[in-house]
Amino acid sequence: MANVKKKLWENNGTFSSNDGIRASSLNFEKGQRTRRQQKDNGFKGKTQNRRQSLNDSLEGELRAFLIDEGALHTYDDLTKVNPVTPTTVLKCLQARYRAKVFYTHAGCTLVALNPFQPIPHLYSLDVMKEYHCAPQPQEFKPHIFIVAEEAYRNVQGQVEPTNQSLVVSGESGAGKTWTSRCLMKYYATVAASSSPKCQDTVERIERRVLDSNPIMEAFGNACTLRNNNSSRFGKYIQLQLNRSQLLVGASVQTYLLEKTRVACQGVNERNFHIFYQMMNDVTKEQRRDWMMPRDQWFTWLPNAEKTLEEDCFKETTDAMTNLGITKEKQGQIFQILAGLLHLGNVSFCPPTDELQPCDLQEQSKAFLQNTAHLLQISEEQLLTCLRLRALRAGKQGVLLKPCSLAECSVRRDCLAKVIYAQVFDWLVAFINRSICADPSSWCNFIGVLDVYGFECFTVNTLEQLCINYANEKLQQHFVAHYLKAQQEEYVSEGLEWSFIKYQDNQSCLDLIEGNPTSVLSLLNEECRLNRASDAKQFEARLEKELSDNTCMSWDKFSKHPHFTVSHYAGKVSYQIEGMMEKNKDPVPPELILLLQESRDSLLQGLFADHNTEENSNRGHSKVVTVLSKFKNSLESLMNILHSTTPHYTRCIKPNTDCRPLTFKKEEVIVQLEACGIVETINISAAGFPIRIPYLNFLQRYGLITNSRMWTQSMNGDGLQTDKDLLGSAVADVLNVVQKSNSLDCPSPNETETGSSLV
Ligand code: ADP
Ligand code: MG
Repeated sequence: MANVKKKLWENNGTFSSNDGIRASSLNFEKGQRTRRQQKDNGFKGKTQNRRQSLNDSLEGELRAFLIDEGALHTYDDLTKVNPVTPTTVLKCLQARYRAKVFYTHAGCTLVALNPFQPIPHLYSLDVMKEYHCAPQPQEFKPHIFIVAEEAYRNVQGQVEPTNQSLVVSGESGAGKTWTSRCLMKYYATVAASSSPKCQDTVERIERRVLDSNPIMEAFGNACTLRNNNSSRFGKYIQLQLNRSQLLVGASVQTYLLEKTRVACQGVNERNFHIFYQMMNDVTKEQRRDWMMPRDQWFTWLPNAEKTLEEDCFKETTDAMTNLGITKEKQGQIFQILAGLLHLGNVSFCPPTDELQPCDLQEQSKAFLQNTAHLLQISEEQLLTCLRLRALRAGKQGVLLKPCSLAECSVRRDCLAKVIYAQVFDWLVAFINRSICADPSSWCNFIGVLDVYGFECFTVNTLEQLCINYANEKLQQHFVAHYLKAQQEEYVSEGLEWSFIKYQDNQSCLDLIEGNPTSVLSLLNEECRLNRASDAKQFEARLEKELSDNTCMSWDKFSKHPHFTVSHYAGKVSYQIEGMMEKNKDPVPPELILLLQESRDSLLQGLFADHNTEENSNRGHSKVVTVLSKFKNSLESLMNILHSTTPHYTRCIKPNTDCRPLTFKKEEVIVQLEACGIVETINISAAGFPIRIPYLNFLQRYGLITNSRMWTQSMNGDGLQTDKDLLGSAVADVLNVVQKSNSLDCPSPNETETGSSLV
C-alpha cells in the first residue's frame, strides 16, 4: 500500500466520469492518453495542491493500485483485478499459486489450480463443517466448498426448490475428477443424516455413492501422457436429495468411453487400470482361473512395470462388493477381461495360398484357445469370425470370404472393443440400480458434471470433434448464464446498462450441428450411404456446402483431407481419413452372433438384445452413428443443465509435468483461453470492469469533498454502512470530479473490451 500512496502523489492522471452514481462500478478508460499527460506534467505533489492532485490522479492511483504486485495474491476474485486483462489475471493466479492459494473466484466461476500435492488440511472434515455452518460462506476464502455449499443452499430456493448443476471443466490432468470426488465427499458428509434411526440406510447409501468412484475409475480411467489417472469417459452424476436435504441416492450417466484404448494404447500410455490391477494384486487361484501367470506378457498391457497407486484391485473389488456385485458376478467379469487380454495376443500371418484365409501365427494358437475358453465360446467359430467375412448371398444364405491380414486385426480389435464397452455399460447400469433412490423418496438433485476439456492434438479425429462439440455447447450455456448473472448484478446495483453485442459461438455450433447442413449432417449422410467413403471427395463436399460459414477453413498447405474449425478456444484441424469408419463403428454381425452363443451367462446377456440386422448395413437409414448417438446424449444433458442453476469450476493445470508448485505462464494462459476464462474476463470487461466498494472508494477519494463520511471512514470511528448515505457521499465526490474535469467517461457500450488501463 505504501507503493500505492507514493504513486498517488506522483501521478497527475485524469479521472473521468459521465455521471455521479457509478461508484461501485466505475469505468475508466483513456489510459493511454492519461499516461502521456502524466509524463508531460511531471511531479506535482505539493501539499497545497493535494486536493486537486488527488482528483487528477484518480486514474493513475487506480492503475498503481492495480499493478501493486505485492498484493496480487490477495485478490480473491479475478474480475476485481484491475484492469481485467489476461496478463493481470495470469499474474494474479501466479502470485496466488506461489502463496499456495489454489482457489480464486472469477465472477460466477471458480478457478481451481491443481496443487499436484496432497493438501489434507484444505479438505478436512473440520473445513467442510466450517463452510457448511457459516452464515455467509462466500465471505470465506475461495474454496470448492463455497461452490458446493452455495448449490446446497440454493436447492431449497427462495421461492421454490431448484435443482443445481456443478460443471467442472479443464484439460486432462487439471483436477476435474479430483474436484468431482471432493464435491461428492462434501455432500456425503454434510447431507448425511445424524438421526440414529436413519444411520444404517443413509450411511449405506452415502458409502455406495462414493464407492461408485473407484469402480468407474478402475474400468474407465487409464494412465496417459497427461495424467496417470486420466478419465477416458465423461460423467454426470445426480445426487438425489429428499425434502430434508439429505442424500438418499444418486444416478450416473456416462459419455463416450474411449473403448479403442482396450486394443490400442498410445506410446508410453497404458490400458484401463483394471487390467493392471488384475495382474498385480490377485491370488494364485485367480491367476490360474484367468490363465495369467505372473510373468505372462500381454500385447495389450504395455508399461505394466510401472506401478501406480491406482493399481489396487482390492479397492475395486471391495467397492463392487459394497454395491452388491456378487463374488460370482465379479468372477465372470474378470474372466471376460482376462479373455480380452489373451485375445490381444492372437495374431495372423498371410496365407500360403491367396484364396485361403490368413493363418494363425504359431504362438497365437494357445492364446486363441485360452480366449475361447475364457469367453466360453467355440474356438473354431472364433477363428472363423476373425478371419472370414460373412456375406449374404440372397436366398442361398451366407458366403464366407477370407479377410485380408489388416482386416483380421480390425475384427479382433473390434471384438475386444465391443465386449469391453458392454461390460462398462453393464457396470454403470448396475451402479445405477444400486445407488438410485426410489423416485418417490427424493425431490431435488445436485448434478456434478466431469467432462473432458477442449482438445487440440497434432492429429484430431472423430473423438476430438465430439469432445470439442460438447465444449462448444457448454461454453454457449455458460456465456448465456454468465451474461444473465451480470445483468442481474447491474440491475441490483441500480445501474443503467445495455449489453455490447457479444460475439457468441452460435455460428460454430451451426457449423457443427446446424440444420439443414452441417459437419454432423454431412458425416452422418455419408455413413448412411452403403458405400466405401473417399476422404478427398468428402473434403470437397464439405467445402462446397459449408465454406460460407466463417468458422470453417482449410489449411492450404495440408496434404491430408481435413477441415479446420474455429472453436471459441482456438482452431482445430480435423483429419477426415478414418472419420467415417469411426462414425459408423461397424460390428460384423457374425461377431455378435458368436457372443450371443457364449455359454457364459453374463457375456451372453450383454449381447442378447443386440440387433445384428442393424449392423448389416442393409437398411441405410437404420445406421445409428456415433455422432448421432452423441448428439442425442448431449442434447439431453443440455436440457438437464438448462433446467438447473449452474455453477462453474474451471480446473487449471499449472504445468504439464504434474510438478508441485510449478507455474508455467505460457501453459496456463492457453488453458485460460480454452476453458473460457478469458471470455469471462472479456464479458466482464465489456461491462464495468472496475468495481470498488463504496466505503473503500470514500476512504481513498473522499478527501476531494472533505466529507464527513470521509473523515469518519479514515478515522475508523463509527464506520458508516448505510448504503444510501454512502451512496450519496460517493455521488458528491463524483460530482466534484465531474465538474472539474473536461474528459467524459465513456459509456460501457463504448469501452474497448479488456483494454481500459493497459
Ligand atoms: P482430470 O480429471 O482433470 O484429468 P484429475 O482430477 O485426475 O484430472 O487430477 C490429476 C491429478 O492431479 C490427481 O490424480 C491428483 O494427483 C492431482 N490433483 C488434482 N486436484 C488436486 C487437489 N485439489 N489437491 C491435490 N492433488 C490434486
Ligand atoms: Mg478425470
